[in-house]
Amino acid sequence: MQRGGTILVVEDEPDIASLVRAYLERDGFRVVWAERGTEGLQALEQHDVRLAILDLQLPDTDGFDLCRAIRACSRLPVVMLTARDEEVDRVTGLELGADDYVTKPFSPRELVARVHAVLRRAEPETDDDVLVAGDVTLDRRSRSASVAGVDVELTAREFDLLWHLAERPGVVVGRERLLERVWGLSFPGGTRTVDVHVAQLRRKLGRPDLIRTVRRAGYKLVPG
Ligand code: CA
Repeated sequence: MQRGGTILVVEDEPDIASLVRAYLERDGFRVVWAERGTEGLQALEQHDVRLAILDLQLPDTDGFDLCRAIRACSRLPVVMLTARDEEVDRVTGLELGADDYVTKPFSPRELVARVHAVLRRAEPETDDDVLVAGDVTLDRRSRSASVAGVDVELTAREFDLLWHLAERPGVVVGRERLLERVWGLSFPGGTRTVDVHVAQLRRKLGRPDLIRTVRRAGYKLVPG
């Protein structure tokens, strides 16, 4: 299985956050730490996050609401952290789409083991993990993109958007459909978001002709 990648830790207690960070970093992960739920959601936009660890009790929201907000727009693996050791919370957390649940006080080593287990379940390896479109190569296992052999850093959304287009080269995919596939059904921002991300992709890839705009229909990927 792929190692490393970025893990988002949303936890308002610095002691716990730095402990978790130390263990994850020792295991080869990069850690983005957010103290509040709103910062956590921003971090998801800014970084290519592979998994999120959410504390249940946060200053501005709780882990359940945050998990719901993440689930509304992605399938990102989520591990919940909580001081509450009540079965009802565990059930609620899993119903909301959390992939696992760790009760405080926890052993950091156990948390890291759970993270690996969740990633293994969430990211099964298949033979079609690599897509090639012209000189653009996408690898779903490492969520990495390269153009003519040179790595290009994409956000999670940009990667997913490009992946969906590259899966069906030459086929027009509507904005609504892209919004649904990449952002999730309940994303409130509208199709303008898709346009903005396509523009970013074109700029980052340096291949403006790769993703064509089809008027009143959507976008299609045309490998050069
Ligand atoms: Ca807390």
